[in-house]
Amino acid sequence: MTSQAKKFDLCVIGAGPGGYVAAIRAAQLGLKVGIVEANHLGGICLNWGCIPTKALLKSAEVNHLLHNLDGFGFSAEKVKFDFAKIVERSRAVSTRLTGGIAGLMKKNKIEVIDGFAKFLDSKKISVVKTSDSGSPYLGGSSGRVSAAMGVDEIQIEATYFIIATGARARVIPGMEPDAENIWTYREAMVPKELPKSLIVVGSGAIGSEFASFYRNMGSEVTLVEMAENILPVEDEEISKIARKSFEKQGIKIYTSAALKSLKKGKGEVTATVEINGKTEELKAEKVIMAVGIVANIENIGLEKTKVKSDKGRIIANGYLETADANIFAIGDVVGAPWLAHKASHEGTIAAEKIASKLGKYDAKKIHPIKIENIPGCTYCMPQIASVGITEKKAKELGKKVKIGRFPYMANGKAIAAGETEGLIKVIFDEKTGELLGAHLIGAEVTEMIQGYVIAKQAELTEEDLMHTIFAHPTMSEMMHEAVLDAYGKVIHF
Ligand SMILES: Cc1cc2nc3c(=O)[nH]c(=O)nc-3n(C[C@H](O)[C@H](O)[C@H](O)COP(=O)(O)OP(=O)(O)OC[C@H]3O[C@@H](n4cnc5c(N)ncnc54)[C@H](O)[C@@H]3O)c2cc1C
Repeated sequence: MTSQAKKFDLCVIGAGPGGYVAAIRAAQLGLKVGIVEANHLGGICLNWGCIPTKALLKSAEVNHLLHNLDGFGFSAEKVKFDFAKIVERSRAVSTRLTGGIAGLMKKNKIEVIDGFAKFLDSKKISVVKTSDSGSPYLGGSSGRVSAAMGVDEIQIEATYFIIATGARARVIPGMEPDAENIWTYREAMVPKELPKSLIVVGSGAIGSEFASFYRNMGSEVTLVEMAENILPVEDEEISKIARKSFEKQGIKIYTSAALKSLKKGKGEVTATVEINGKTEELKAEKVIMAVGIVANIENIGLEKTKVKSDKGRIIANGYLETADANIFAIGDVVGAPWLAHKASHEGTIAAEKIASKLGKYDAKKIHPIKIENIPGCTYCMPQIASVGITEKKAKELGKKVKIGRFPYMANGKAIAAGETEGLIKVIFDEKTGELLGAHLIGAEVTEMIQGYVIAKQAELTEEDLMHTIFAHPTMSEMMHEAVLDAYGKVIHF
């Protein structure tokens, strides 16, 4: 066996949106950085998550529009789609972006090492090439080092490590995906053909996005959710509007429904579901299991370090420091919310903290991650976006609140765009005027939410928001009107 040794100031394990951002920020601050990746640069986000799903959802949106043209004065006959091309486009978008990450690594002089990393101790890892390592679009020009270059194992010593190994789909024992009829998000993203019928188990962001995509492409979709409402982390009022809209689109929904078993038959799966004490059998061609994710903490030699884990995730503080002084952890591997932008922001904090320990950055400029200021978006139809706490949570916390709402049907731009379904809801602390939460459903809310995120981050009050001038005609005017509504000053409703 041949081996090679390398030394870095910082070695990042995992090149998803957490890892590659951390590597770039550390390189910008003058650190010698290496990054190890077992599969493809870009992680789940660029290869199997955020980006390829949005490409698929765009095609579904186009399909929906082409079938609903009359209101705009158009008609189109014999509208057809090539499903293989829709999937191909999604893969091409993913490949383009992951190729871009390779370029960024090169530009920032970050050494990319192919293979699976395992800790030997707190300052040393062993990297072994896996059969899945390396990606065709990178080639030799990326400067990647791997066993393909005649090396079986690379040992890396670093002053600091960042664990950014991400997460994978949760599997329920006895209901394991088989890649044929029982899918995870991976198979759901690259279907060979459009299934006639489909059961989606779990109505979080991933489940709801797939339900929306397949329904808008023409599949019969049934959504099964264990909680009382679909999209259970969202404000109840928003979840209820989403349910009504999904049902109007023809998605069958079962809530308070526990999946008991999956039985595979010829070309179909039978799901036994318990709903309010009654058992029902649901049948479909395919099942997508979207019942959560599990952090990748196994087989990475954590036992050789002082890193601690709890309930399957690595424990890290607001600066992403673990119990081991040499090791930081970021992104999905440290727990909820499992979002790419959270992983990237944590990557920046960890890189800056490490640079400050090496005397290359001012520690006073670093702020711990604020979970309550992280927006969450679901790109189904209609879109959903939120930041901060729900009305229920505010009340549980004993807060006296002022709530404002503004419906899409009263906004000029929304009416002009033919997008009259939706609501903007804001929750303020009555005593302080602090924006506690914002909950949006409707067209373009995944873009609009950022306005409220900035307001929350900058700790703006209701007064600041009321004094802000919003351009007309825009959908974001509804954000203003919702704030005005909370204080009895709404104009257009
Ligand atoms: C279908 C789907 C849709 C999603 N949509 C969105 C969305 O719209 N918006 C959003 O914000 N989030 C979305 N997410 C979530 C988002 O993808 C994740 O939160 C994000 O990718 C987490 O980033 P990460 O860097 O922590 O980990 P990952 O992106 O999971 O990257 C971890 C990387 O580490 C590598 N790795 C693991 N172990 C090792 C090892 N021992 N050695 C070397 N390399 C290793 C893996 O190969 C992987 O490339 C979606 C997820 C899914 C599944």
